[in-house]
Amino acid sequence: MTTRILTTRMEEHPSDSNSMARYLDTGGYATLRHALASLSPEQVASEVKASNLRGRGGAGFPMGVKWGFLADSDPKYLVINADESEPGTFKDRQLLERDPHQLVEGIVLSSFALGIHRAFIYIRGEYPKAARRVQQAIEEAFEAGYLGADICGSGFSLDVSIHLGGGAYICGEETALLNSLEGRRGEPRLKPPFPAVAGLYSRPTIVNNVESLSNVPWIVANGGTAYSSIGPERSAGTRMFSLSGHVKKPGNYEIVMGMSWRDLIYGIGGGIRDGNELKTWIPGGASAPWLVPEHLDTPLTIDDVTALGTMLGSGAVVVMDQTTDVVAAAHSIVRFFAHESCGQCTPCREGTRWLQDILERILDGSGRPSDIDLLLDVSDNISPGLTWPPAMTTICPLGPSATAPIVSITKYFLDEVKAKIDGFEVAVG
Ligand code: SF4
Repeated sequence: MTTRILTTRMEEHPSDSNSMARYLDTGGYATLRHALASLSPEQVASEVKASNLRGRGGAGFPMGVKWGFLADSDPKYLVINADESEPGTFKDRQLLERDPHQLVEGIVLSSFALGIHRAFIYIRGEYPKAARRVQQAIEEAFEAGYLGADICGSGFSLDVSIHLGGGAYICGEETALLNSLEGRRGEPRLKPPFPAVAGLYSRPTIVNNVESLSNVPWIVANGGTAYSSIGPERSAGTRMFSLSGHVKKPGNYEIVMGMSWRDLIYGIGGGIRDGNELKTWIPGGASAPWLVPEHLDTPLTIDDVTALGTMLGSGAVVVMDQTTDVVAAAHSIVRFFAHESCGQCTPCREGTRWLQDILERILDGSGRPSDIDLLLDVSDNISPGLTWPPAMTTICPLGPSATAPIVSITKYFLDEVKAKIDGFEVAVG
């Protein structure tokens, strides 16, 4: 389907979709003016709740329900998670660079709904162009009276500022992000308390993703019911997918959920490069267990993908063709998580490094027949039972995420892993 909510402006006006002039010219800030003049905060919040929008940062928690947990105590904060760092994910970057006013309007509407007067946008440090574009949009919005004191003469005030991250993947986890924003080490916090009760500076805080908030202007303009009627019931609305790897047409695509994986990979993505066969794909970022061709006709919805033992996560679809060495691919992902572990939890700190070392010796030709069992044993210590969603013995999901590629290659490509280990057949015979 071709329904567009987030990418209409950048598609129709690619040269200046980020500018204030183009935003106003295409109806931008009209929803905010209307909401501030005619709607109550409760009405705006109820439209977002009615939309059934599930957060686009990875967890998929309903945004309106999350808002409902915000403690009623001032001051409270809105923090925008723009620390997009999941390998394979690059959708928020496009929204930040090419339609920053859409995000700013979403921030003001959301803050109005929640009675918040201070917002922070945490942008990953490797996104300097995105940060410049958002900074420019904020300054233009202040100048035009859409930010600052007494916005549009409504009496509502909001201050927004940008904070650049220092390059740690873990700061995409919302409580690590809050620690980083406070100037402390970017380490996840034990929960509870959840940020909605005690977040930034121990004050009630809502942390929302860029894509989630960018939907808010459309939802308030058209009504939550209109949004919830797009796509399958529990996967409402459009969604940005970052399609990469061995497809002919990689890129960001805004789609209505419910199409099949075949439609996404072979239709939108143009199929596999060089006439090769599809081998496997990661459906939702490096943290997600992989899928294989027998899953091609499964509908692309949050629930259908969860039933397969994986997730849509951050919307990053990484496609691998028949030439892919799956052990090398798993090693690349595990090495990433081992490097990014913050070190607080022993299973994650030690286990991810063990997984990396074992995969390295298999790739070096020094693998041992016992290594497959060892990979699974170490993984089970990080995430007991190796179920999905993962059981958690760690503070955050990073450690369990490192087990996803191990489970995937031993489940779907066991013979290929065995073939890399000399003497394996002798040992198991
Ligand atoms: Fe840090 Fe890993 Fe524990 Fe997460 S699971 S808090 S990254 S040590």
